[in-house]
Amino acid sequence: MIQLYIPLNFLGVLYREIKQSLADMEKLFNLMDQNKEIADKEQAPALALADHASPDVVFQRVNFSYEEKRQILFDVDFKIVAGTTTAVVGHSGSGKSTLSRLLFRFYDIQSGAIQIAGQNIMDITQHSLRQAIGIVPQDTVLFNDTIGYNIAYGKPGATQEDVIEVAKAAYIHDFIQSLPDGYDTMVGERGLKLSGGEKQRVAIARTLLKNPAIMIFDEATSALDSKSEQMIQAQLKQIAKSRTSLVIAHRLSTIVDAQQILVMDKGRIIERGTHLELMALAGAYAQMWERQQHNNAVTSELDVIEAAH
Ligand code: ADP
Ligand code: MG
Repeated sequence: MIQLYIPLNFLGVLYREIKQSLADMEKLFNLMDQNKEIADKEQAPALALADHASPDVVFQRVNFSYEEKRQILFDVDFKIVAGTTTAVVGHSGSGKSTLSRLLFRFYDIQSGAIQIAGQNIMDITQHSLRQAIGIVPQDTVLFNDTIGYNIAYGKPGATQEDVIEVAKAAYIHDFIQSLPDGYDTMVGERGLKLSGGEKQRVAIARTLLKNPAIMIFDEATSALDSKSEQMIQAQLKQIAKSRTSLVIAHRLSTIVDAQQILVMDKGRIIERGTHLELMALAGAYAQMWERQQHNNAVTSELDVIEAAH
């Protein structure tokens, strides 16, 4: 998983380059080398999780900055109760994706603590931490390999049947079947270029196969058309069920059922509650909701106009 996610954190020229095309392994490994400052403590134990039990995830007064001079998160404090979904909403740049990078420990925080099942993530091995977490990132980077490999990567030793099963669940099986080489089709820089939505489905299939205790889903803003999004959403709800999940949402309509919604603004949680509680609060969340309802109405109207032509 680390190879797939690192480029998203080390933004800059190289990342943009990779974002344009599909990354190849070499670039990914170069990027990984940049992250040497995160090291396991000597004799760090593995994350201990009870069998089949999803853990609590706690952020305790987390302060974080990527660079010294600019603080990104301020006293971020929340708990995802075991087996429930917490959604995070807020304007672009408010720090939502940063939360997922920190939970995955791509960076260490300056103060506070992040705990999984009561264990500080700085005290356990990174390997065991990342084993426990599945991420469907905003931008999925694929390996220069077959599409089948890109899915199977979620679980070493996965069989072809396993791969097909999760591909079906992620609504990408039919598409793969329609390719001349099926699951053996090469993707990546030297192969077939997939659309944002297709890449995201590969990531979902891979995560399904990994079957992690904790799920992070960083919703893509525009990768999916609304019909595919509805299908994927239904599927994700299924995956997230009884699993500790952090969902970074752009479309509020997808998270109305979340047990907890955090509203972020400039690195702080400014509101929290269920959809109904936040609507009753008539604050920032309610405003965002009204705005999106309005935009949806405008979009559907445009769809109708478009269809008429
Ligand atoms: P969101 O997901 O809410 O759009 P992010 O968590 O990605 O926001 O980013 C929060 C802030 O951190 C932004 O101002 C962004 O520019 C900054 N940021 C993100 N990644 C890095 C990085 N690798 N180095 C420096 N600043 C970063
Ligand atoms: Mg983001």
